[in-house]
Amino acid sequence: MPRPIWVTIDSGALTHNLGVVASALAGDGRAVDARIWAVTKAQAYGHGLDAAIRGFAQADGLAMLDLDEAVYCREHGWHGPLLLLEGFFEPDDLPVLARHRIAATVHCVEQLAMLEAARPVRPIDIFLKLNTGMYRLGFQAPEYRDIYRRAARLQAMGIVGVLGKMTHFACADEDARATQEQIACFQKVTEGLPGPVSLCNSAAVLTPELVGAVSAQTGDHWVRPGICLYGASPFAHRTAQGLGLRPAMTLAARLISTHPLPAGQSIGYGLTFRASRTMRVGIVACGYADGYPRHAGTGTPVVVDGVRTRLVGRVSMDMLAVDLGPVPQAQVGSLVVLWGQGGPSADEVALSCGTISYELLTAVTSRVPRHVLPVSEQEQR
Ligand SMILES: *Cc1c(COP(=O)(O)O)cnc(C)c1O
Repeated sequence: MPRPIWVTIDSGALTHNLGVVASALAGDGRAVDARIWAVTKAQAYGHGLDAAIRGFAQADGLAMLDLDEAVYCREHGWHGPLLLLEGFFEPDDLPVLARHRIAATVHCVEQLAMLEAARPVRPIDIFLKLNTGMYRLGFQAPEYRDIYRRAARLQAMGIVGVLGKMTHFACADEDARATQEQIACFQKVTEGLPGPVSLCNSAAVLTPELVGAVSAQTGDHWVRPGICLYGASPFAHRTAQGLGLRPAMTLAARLISTHPLPAGQSIGYGLTFRASRTMRVGIVACGYADGYPRHAGTGTPVVVDGVRTRLVGRVSMDMLAVDLGPVPQAQVGSLVVLWGQGGPSADEVALSCGTISYELLTAVTSRVPRHVLPVSEQEQR
């Protein structure tokens, strides 16, 4: 028998969450006219590309980082637009982009030079990235219009197809004013330059003032939600459930031992948790080698046999310990949900260990068996 730990990917939850984004855009009367790139970088935030291709069948496009992942999508049933968020890295990538109709972000002059030297079999669609204040990727504001003109020449030569403009927000999840400044910078720099635009991540898409401001000022707008499509919240102070999202990933395991921890005794490496009175504990077949965060400390929420309880002591490589006080009926074989449906949210677990759900979802390791649930007919509608 395999070790009792597994991850379940609910493709229907992906479809549901895409619907939540679509309704947020359709919003209260002032409908936002935007198309959706579902962001599927890092193997669809750890959910796998097969689930993403099915779950996001109704998205307008898929956006990711890795050329191999984009080609995989093209060869496994994704016929719509594909966008590489960091673009390409060497000249040999360009024929692959052209052949598979994969669009690329262009964020530096080195990439532009590679395009100028290329003779692709068909024009390559690009989005020219502008740095509006995050200082990660993108051309700087003073050079942007010259860069755009260079790209427009490539368009006239048939090397570039669609010529779009994009930027990325640094803190749409917590500071709407800083984001409005980024939008204003984008507007000012790209004023009058034709082509589609792409700006909003999950936090911006779910903030009507932001996505509304962008769409009102631009024409053809592509939004780029990621984390919310997987059922986690981009905001520290709003829960995924409150946003109407459903977790797509559930990490579950079983108890492999239960025993008393006598008063005064401690448990696990470093003996960091000491029982003040005798209590019952359970050992779960899940550890940091499965991708559960080692820095999740005593008190991190976990659900055993449907009852919420807490982690105690340090997470080991292959095991962790839980307090069975609230779950007297628990025994070897009891179901433990580490996060997801029927458990704490990945956001709650992340909060307990000083990180964000993005990191937990993308960290589940390959030794954990995966079950992918299909999209039901009801969810498809
Ligand atoms: C990851 C990423 C997104 C999606 O961000 P979320 O916060 O997951 O919605 C959008 N655009 C770019 C450029 C990204 O790198």
